[in-house]
Amino acid sequence: ATRVVLSARPQGAATLDDLRHEPFECPDPGDGQVLLRTIWLSLDPYMRGRMDDAKSYATPVGLGEVMTGQTVGEVIASRHKDFAPGDIATGMTGWTDHAVIDGGELRKIDPEVAPIQTALGVLGMPGLTAWTGVNHILRVESGKTLVVSAATGAVGSVAGQLAKAKGLHSVGVAGGPEKCAFATDELGYDACIDHHAQADGKAMAAAIADAASDGVDYYFENVGGKTLAGVIGNMNDHGAIAICGMIAWYGGKNLDEGPQMPMLWRNMLTRKLRAEGFIIYDHWHRFPDFLNEVAPMVADGRVSYRESVTEGLENAPAAFLDMLQGGNFGKTLVRVGAD
Ligand code: NDP
Repeated sequence: ATRVVLSARPQGAATLDDLRHEPFECPDPGDGQVLLRTIWLSLDPYMRGRMDDAKSYATPVGLGEVMTGQTVGEVIASRHKDFAPGDIATGMTGWTDHAVIDGGELRKIDPEVAPIQTALGVLGMPGLTAWTGVNHILRVESGKTLVVSAATGAVGSVAGQLAKAKGLHSVGVAGGPEKCAFATDELGYDACIDHHAQADGKAMAAAIADAASDGVDYYFENVGGKTLAGVIGNMNDHGAIAICGMIAWYGGKNLDEGPQMPMLWRNMLTRKLRAEGFIIYDHWHRFPDFLNEVAPMVADGRVSYRESVTEGLENAPAAFLDMLQGGNFGKTLVRVGAD
């Protein structure tokens, strides 16, 4: 079997030298365990944080250890009563083409409901994140205006579509004209701003003022940087910000981009804003409610999704680094093995 391990801790931006694809001996499953053959590996921005040896909401990956990651795979052998060979299941098996894992840590997937890899995207962690942010953190009301950054990504694309379905005016911010066209034409955003075309936070503020003429009531924050700088001055009184991510700043990049602290704080104060960070692991109990609501929307096309697929586990490191820079277009996936 093969896997990708953390070979070095990144100094600033992560590089290919920090990740290594290597062979390993996959053990046989013990009592209560399952041997899984990976079909799909999910690549997610949070993995960048796991590469650092810093205190966070999750323990870092150790040097020489397999990179953390959620996969969808086929059960090859099982010593757990709930799983049989041929079953499709998802779990945190990591960047590996085969894995042994406790059956209790796996969730079975019904391939009849939706394509199995949606368990990593629109019907998985990113979808739950979008749904939780929109409904439980922002608690949106129809008729109001929402801005979503990384608007075409795994999380943002779902947030935008859920808001649209609830009758909000939605403005996306995405990187490049192609993503912006997709945002308005396919995802239903009323407008989309290309952040590459905005020189700084001031230019971004003007573009947002243009696209959100009644001001911004809700901001689904995925990026930080100049997008946050542009949004903050456009927030309406009693507006809400769901702090989901700040990818522009991951790895210590773009630290000079973003709102000046006094400006940020003054706007929070005078406009009586509510900003709430959330980590999706605190909201897993909502998963059944989320699936009940969103799976039918995916089935009938009210929520559509797009995928950026890379072939082969050996290409996962490059795909991951590319995603951090916006090289993905939709949910980032690696096809590790045949369906
Ligand atoms: P995406 O599919 O959105 O991919 C990342 C995107 O970030 C890129 O495609 C790019 O989009 C955008 N991006 C990268 N650099 C910059 C930059 N400098 N300025 C603006 N945008 C940038 O990833 P996900 O949907 O999986 O994740 C989105 C965010 O949500 C991340 O910040 C992630 O950490 C966070 N997250 C948080 C969770 C939580 O529990 N709080 C759970 C899951 C995700 P573009 O080309 O459009 O700029």
